Amino acid sequence: MSSHEENKPRHFIQHIIDEDIQQGKNDGKVVTRFPPEPNGFLHIGHAKSICLNFGIAQEYQGQCNLRFDDTNPHKENLEFVKAIQEDVRWLGFDWEDRLYYASDYFEQLYGFAIELIKNGKAYICDLNAEQTREYRGTLTEPGKDSPYRERSVEENLDLFTRMRAGDFEDGSRVLRARIDMASPNMNMRDPTLYRIRHGVIHHQTGEEWCIYPMYDYTHPISDALEGVTHSLCTLEFEDHRPLYDWVLDNISVGCHPRQIEFSRLNLQYTVTSKRKLTQLVEEGIVEGWDDPRMPTIAGLRRRGFTPASIREFSDRIGVTKSENSVEMGMLESAIRDDLNEHAPRRMAVLHPLKVVLENYPEDKLEELTVPNHPQNESMGTRTIPFTRELYIDRNDFMEVAPNKKFKRLVSGGEVRLRNAYVIRCDQVIKNEQGDIIELRCSCDEATLGANPEGRKVKGVIHWVSAAHAVEAELRLYDRLFVEPQPDAIKERDFKEFINPDSLRSLTQCYLERSLADARAGDSFQFEREGYFCVDADHSHNKPIFNRTVTLRDSWAKIEQKQA
Ligand code: ATP
Ligand code: MG
Repeated sequence: MSSHEENKPRHFIQHIIDEDIQQGKNDGKVVTRFPPEPNGFLHIGHAKSICLNFGIAQEYQGQCNLRFDDTNPHKENLEFVKAIQEDVRWLGFDWEDRLYYASDYFEQLYGFAIELIKNGKAYICDLNAEQTREYRGTLTEPGKDSPYRERSVEENLDLFTRMRAGDFEDGSRVLRARIDMASPNMNMRDPTLYRIRHGVIHHQTGEEWCIYPMYDYTHPISDALEGVTHSLCTLEFEDHRPLYDWVLDNISVGCHPRQIEFSRLNLQYTVTSKRKLTQLVEEGIVEGWDDPRMPTIAGLRRRGFTPASIREFSDRIGVTKSENSVEMGMLESAIRDDLNEHAPRRMAVLHPLKVVLENYPEDKLEELTVPNHPQNESMGTRTIPFTRELYIDRNDFMEVAPNKKFKRLVSGGEVRLRNAYVIRCDQVIKNEQGDIIELRCSCDEATLGANPEGRKVKGVIHWVSAAHAVEAELRLYDRLFVEPQPDAIKERDFKEFINPDSLRSLTQCYLERSLADARAGDSFQFEREGYFCVDADHSHNKPIFNRTVTLRDSWAKIEQKQA
């Protein structure tokens, strides 16, 4: 533990584990697991769970397993199995040789089901889905016992064996736990343990099985078989905990992990549900799971987030039992803090306007040495070319200053070019429609690195040399939804709240020469514009840069506008 971590207040799960260790439980060992279902890419909510599970293991010198919860073979596939591993590794965590699949345990799970049947704790039920629902009762009324509940052990064993052998059709029978149809907890009203699924090809077990165990049965046993000590899950499983414990209390597995629930991460202006994210991908609303607007780990990576920033975010939001929704600004400030410290500075012109320095010779080229970071000298320097023809940003020029706050270039006025000279605008050139297409300026060569005496030059703007500029496409992203909680509005589909302007593409931007060597994944601060990251897509004829985040919090402004 670093001293920073030692000073941090400890959360309730750490308190529980501390107590368990003090009481000598599990011989003082701590084993956790991260159990994703491979039915989509991981999102920022999963990142919270990954940081918690792997973080706890690190803190207590324990272990964290990666286990695929692959009991629902219809919706799962290998692409997701691969992507999930890549994302967990990228976040900086290591499961070493402990990569497991719930399907690894199918034979053992089957064996424990036989044990339950033999002890009169499970039975084969022939009610169809609708009947089962009727028998189940409601929150206010108890359920009724299934007419098949009193089947003999022999008959149950015979039917279950034949279920496995493939003798029965999908939906014709299930194996149910024999608990209590009158329990106030609906999960305890003889829940289904196994169902029949013919014709699926499971990504791990192929066609070996035609019966599949349910999550609530599989999960506690998988935890126990792996020697997990603390099974951390989200709050919606609180009502399932009695079943988790019932399963382990009624089989001879010899290990009883402790389930502890914490609240899920909900992030404003986005959705964190794989089912909904799948819709965005499948309906082409975004370009894929790694679209930089997606709250997936792959999307955040492509957008330019660093693993450290996501771990830091997860640390800052903390672990509690209360449902809450976190502002997007929290996530953005984590990456902004990281990039502010680590991203080299560069100049890039987003909306180019040509500037010709009439008093600067046509064939002259100066190489100016400039720092890569204003505070951190160890990040070194680079050279930038200065020439007669430059580009500045259109937004940095106005013929007449609109107000006193406008410190940039105006007709007849002066401004400093960042890291270079002071220039004065002598003439504005327009096309036939009256649009400004070029500025004729003069450059004061005495002002390199010094403020001219007796003149008030407050504004500093960025620029690039026209002859050396690298053409690029810059993609500016905005929130994906216009509503803070798009999926919390009753009777409205979350997709109605998609932000139509979530992507703005600037296809004709000019970057300083040194950016010609930038490689996919490299991050920079474009001075005065924001943090940008090189996209991995090279199929276009110019490089693409994704804006990771603006320089300042733009979310606060949105809130104000809406208020
Ligand atoms: P989704 O609803 O997005 O499909 P899930 O819970 O079904 O999520 P799993 O693959 O089963 O997805 O989740 C793996 C682990 O990640 C679980 O332990 C789950 O509790 C945790 N997890 C999922 N979403 C969140 C979230 N938003 N915040 C914190 N933990 C989460
Ligand atoms: Mg799940």
